[in-house]
Parts: sequence; structure tokens; C-alpha cells
Amino acid sequence: MSDFVTRFAPSPSGLLHLGHAFSALFAFSASQNAGGRFILRIEDIDTTRCRAEFEHTMMDDLRWLGLKWEAPVRRQSEHFDDYAHMLERLRALGVVYRCFHTRRALIDEMARAPHGQTEVYTGPATPMNTDEQALRIAKGEAFAWRLSLRAAREMLGQDWETLCFTEQGQGPKGEHGTIRARPEKLGDVVLARKDIGTSYHLAVTHDDAAQGITHVLRGQDLFESTHIHVLLQALLGLPTPVYRHHGLIRDATGQRLATRNHAASLQSLRAAGKTPKEVLAMVKLK
Ligand code: GLU
Repeated sequence: MSDFVTRFAPSPSGLLHLGHAFSALFAFSASQNAGGRFILRIEDIDTTRCRAEFEHTMMDDLRWLGLKWEAPVRRQSEHFDDYAHMLERLRALGVVYRCFHTRRALIDEMARAPHGQTEVYTGPATPMNTDEQALRIAKGEAFAWRLSLRAAREMLGQDWETLCFTEQGQGPKGEHGTIRARPEKLGDVVLARKDIGTSYHLAVTHDDAAQGITHVLRGQDLFESTHIHVLLQALLGLPTPVYRHHGLIRDATGQRLATRNHAASLQSLRAAGKTPKEVLAMVKLK
């Protein structure tokens, strides 16, 4: 067996659609071609949206498509302590700060992977002093932990200039090869808040390292997030895997498939009598 390890990491907040099927098969077939390992990871940190029923249905759909994965399956909701520990390490490094400007919409996005554009927050002009923080905490004000790009840059010094990753697939603008990581494209992202002790960025970076993922295969809509993941890896001394982003499956009108625009779910295709072979042909994977 080669040392190639990849994963498919869905969030069980709805039904799998053809876009997910493509992503899962893209990773699974790459692991088979490389004679490597394939891991299924359940990214369910957003406990308000993720449900056990969706997880079961997802696994059933993936088995139906012919995928096999290693047991046990890691469920992120069972590992909040790991992410809290990681945040603690970042706090000790002085690269996170409390932000009391927690706009609802922005915070709602936190636990989900930011598919597509995210708002860029560049941080306060001057850090809030500890007395004011203590006062606001005492008043019960909500806050989020944000990654400080300014502090991270100071900590890394020269290494900031050489942060990079290998892209074997393609980013949305055709990015390929050695890519210079530019975390400033995403700004001071939210890493945690009181009720959800981790964000997508923190959990995914932790788990890719903890599970020894050598190749991250996923959709192009997550390409930009890689800039932050590479920075977190550098701050925490974690290895940077190789990345392979794939183009997104679109419907007949050219729209990206997503659960919210009622993309053909595998459940409905199955109910309509499609065979796994026909579904594989629909996503152009044999
Ligand atoms: N859980 C993420 C999603 O639902 C994918 C994470 C990743 O592949 O990095 O799209």
C-alpha cells in the first residue's frame, strides 16, 4: 500500500446530491488508483443543522455508489476537546483575539465550510484592552475568537513570505502547481465562539493532520480556504498536505449544484430507479 491517504468530508445537514457524489468518487478513485487509503469523515460541528438521519442516509448512498471506507468513522462532534485544545495553543501563541462585533450572519457561517465568497474582516485598528474585554465578558456579551493575521505574520517573520502549498488540481482561476498562500484574502477569520467551540477552518486543519491525510481532494469552492489552512498548519507545526481541487458539477442551466437549490439528491435518483452505473455516468466518472 502506498502512503497516499485522502478523505471525503461531508456535513450531514441535508441529502447528498450529484455534486457530493462527484466529490466522493473523485477522492475514492484517486485513493484506489494510488493504492492508498480512503477515509470518510463526518463534519458535524454545526449541531443545529446536522442530523444523525442525514448521516445514515449519506452513508447508505455512498455504499450504494460502491464506496468503501475505513472504520471507525471520525465524527467531529465527538472531538470538541481536540479543537478546544488547538484554540488554546493558538491563544498561548498570542495569535487569536476576542471580537465582540459578532454579526449574526457572519457567525452563522462559521461552522459550515465557506463555499464561495466570505466576508473579509481585517481586524481592529488597535487591540481591545483587557479591562474592556473583562467588562464586556462580565456583562455577558457574546464574542468570537478571531485569528489575528497581524500577530501571525509577526510570529512567522520570514516564513510568512514563503507560505505555500502544492495544487495538483485546479483553483477557480486555473491555479495549479506551487501556490503562494495568501491568508489576507480571507482576513481575520472566526475560529470559535462560546456555543460552537470550533470553526470549519480549525476542525478541518486539526483533523487532516490527526488523520494523516496526505492529499486533500475537494471542490474548487473550498480552494480559497486553503490559504487559511496553510497558515494554521505553519503556526501549529502541522504538515501541509497536497491539495487537489476539482471543478464543480453544474446543472443544465449552468448553476452550481447545492442542497439549497434542490439539486438532484441521490435519494430521488434512486427512487426514480437509476442504477449506480447511471449515476456515475451522470457525473462523468466510470
Ligand atoms: N465539510 C465540508 C463540506 O461540507 C468539506 C470540507 C473539506 O473537504 O475540506 O463541504
